[in-house]
Amino acid sequence: MQKQVAIPVRSSSDVQEPAPTKKGLIVWLVVIPFVGLHIMTLGVIWVGWSWVAVGTALAMFWIRMFAITGFYHRYLSHRSYKTSRWFQFAFAILGNAATQKGPLWWAAHHRHHHKNSDTDEDVHSPTKQGFFYSHVGWIFARKNAATRTTLVPDLTKFPELRFLDRFDVLVPILLGCAMFGLGVILEKVSPELGTSGMQMLIWGFFVSTVILAHSTFTINSLSHVFGRKRFVTGDTSRNNLLLAFLTLGEGWHNNHHHYATTVQQGFFWWEIDITYYGLWVLSKLGLIWNLKAVPERVLQTGRVPSRAAA
Ligand SMILES: [Zn+2]
Ligand SMILES: [Zn+2]
Repeated sequence: MQKQVAIPVRSSSDVQEPAPTKKGLIVWLVVIPFVGLHIMTLGVIWVGWSWVAVGTALAMFWIRMFAITGFYHRYLSHRSYKTSRWFQFAFAILGNAATQKGPLWWAAHHRHHHKNSDTDEDVHSPTKQGFFYSHVGWIFARKNAATRTTLVPDLTKFPELRFLDRFDVLVPILLGCAMFGLGVILEKVSPELGTSGMQMLIWGFFVSTVILAHSTFTINSLSHVFGRKRFVTGDTSRNNLLLAFLTLGEGWHNNHHHYATTVQQGFFWWEIDITYYGLWVLSKLGLIWNLKAVPERVLQTGRVPSRAAA
């Protein structure tokens, strides 16, 4: 058995279950920046649009969605493949750029969700706490503010991941600055593109980040409400093709709750899972390896009786 590494205490608030009543139930330091992100998208009224700005917003959406699904979720949360420490760090930076808090916080809360799905303990259950809370309200709750470090001892042993987790706004701020800088450069060298520093910042960071956040959050909210159940999982998880398109494969959420340790969420060839295709390419390039497939027995067991032949 692997030796347990002592987990350093990050700060006085970094404990498993902070008392929710001491400073109020809501963390305004999370609410205000999150609302601020949305308000900044209104900047499109003043900066207008250009093909390069909208294209960059789309590219930043897809790249960072892949980072969330392929790295934060399938790698850090579920360890469904292996990689080098350097790529682990690079992937964590890319995931951090999605502006959905740090890698340890994200993975720990997700592991908590799998352990307690649709029970009173679940951090985001639409059936237990309501749709709004499961979609976004839970990230504002003080009880979910700290990283549940006891759930990620395999990750807290890496100081570089602890650093990203502690200073989780650093990468998003750098990304925003990079977008602004790119816009300034493009305005100078290619004025025919019709963009500017502020336009690239608004589209490439703010608009893209807000759409990315709500798309990701649909897996915590809509994926437990709308769709079909193939497997009996003891929770309300569903398979939903539209959400699978939107989130590069995460919409096969009932499959995922049935067998979470695989690198695939689409279990059959017709279940589109773009994240898996991307990870397969990375494995062919030698950047990741030991991808955990879905065992045949997993496909055949635990079927919902009416869908036994599906
Ligand atoms: Zn779920
Ligand atoms: Zn999961």
